[in-house]
Amino acid sequence: SKAKLFDENSQVKTTFKDVAGLEGAKEEVQEIVDFLKNPEKYTNLGGKIPKGALLVGPPGTGKTLLAKAVAGEAKVPFFSLSGSDFVEMFVGVGASRVRDLFKQAKEKSPAIIFIDEIDAIGRARGKNAMSGSNDERENTLNQLLTEMDGFGTNTNVIVLAATNRADILDKALMRAGRFDRQIHVDLPNLTERREIFEVHLKPLKKAKGLDVDFLSKQTPGFSGADIANLCNEAALIAARKNKKEVEKQDFLDAVDRIVGGLEKRSTIFS
Ligand code: ATP
Repeated sequence: SKAKLFDENSQVKTTFKDVAGLEGAKEEVQEIVDFLKNPEKYTNLGGKIPKGALLVGPPGTGKTLLAKAVAGEAKVPFFSLSGSDFVEMFVGVGASRVRDLFKQAKEKSPAIIFIDEIDAIGRARGKNAMSGSNDERENTLNQLLTEMDGFGTNTNVIVLAATNRADILDKALMRAGRFDRQIHVDLPNLTERREIFEVHLKPLKKAKGLDVDFLSKQTPGFSGADIANLCNEAALIAARKNKKEVEKQDFLDAVDRIVGGLEKRSTIFS
């Protein structure tokens, strides 16, 4: 298969209503939507539009979804790439790929660039003794910093980046005029889990009276991605039993299966 440098989506359909919970984060990114839609409102008063923001939070909490929704709400193209793909697939050419990405985004501006797992590129320098491609990663990181510094006041490209390890990032990334804003995207609480269930139960043919409150209470520690996965698993389990509707027991069986996976995940990381 041919390695893809980045994805470009010019017609993002995702909007804030696809993102359940995350009220605080949505409020913060609403401002970015407004920058993209009405830059003059800010620049006329001498304001500088931010160039980047960091979405910080555990895996599966909706960082990618939220970044995509910013593009969807502002009706601007969404350029996305994953930091880990970058480091693994583009050995020797990372810096020039970053240059290409920014060039294309600028041509289509206003635009959003989204860098998932930025820590793969942006780990603090000199702390990567395990990997052989250290210089390569540093070149890529330096190019990213150069591109962001080179944005003129009217470039109107905003770079959103996601990480679950803001603490290991190179401080140079967080300097003023780069990723100088952090937006926290945390695991959902009970009420937020209920809202996420509402989104992901919608496409399911569910048994009458299925208790969403009960499901929300059964799933502490679940991320939005876990809940999406749970709803889908429940539907598959019900289908395997040739049921006509997805029932409470199917969700409970799916919870067991997913909690088993979560336990495995936490032993890997501990
Ligand atoms: P990672 O750090 O692992 O890349 P992420 O924080 O970017 O994770 P997403 O990729 O946005 O998480 O989430 C994966 C999927 O989980 C989404 O496409 C969506 O289906 C579901 N999901 C996650 N969070 C939410 C949410 N707040 N509301 C609705 N769905 C959500």
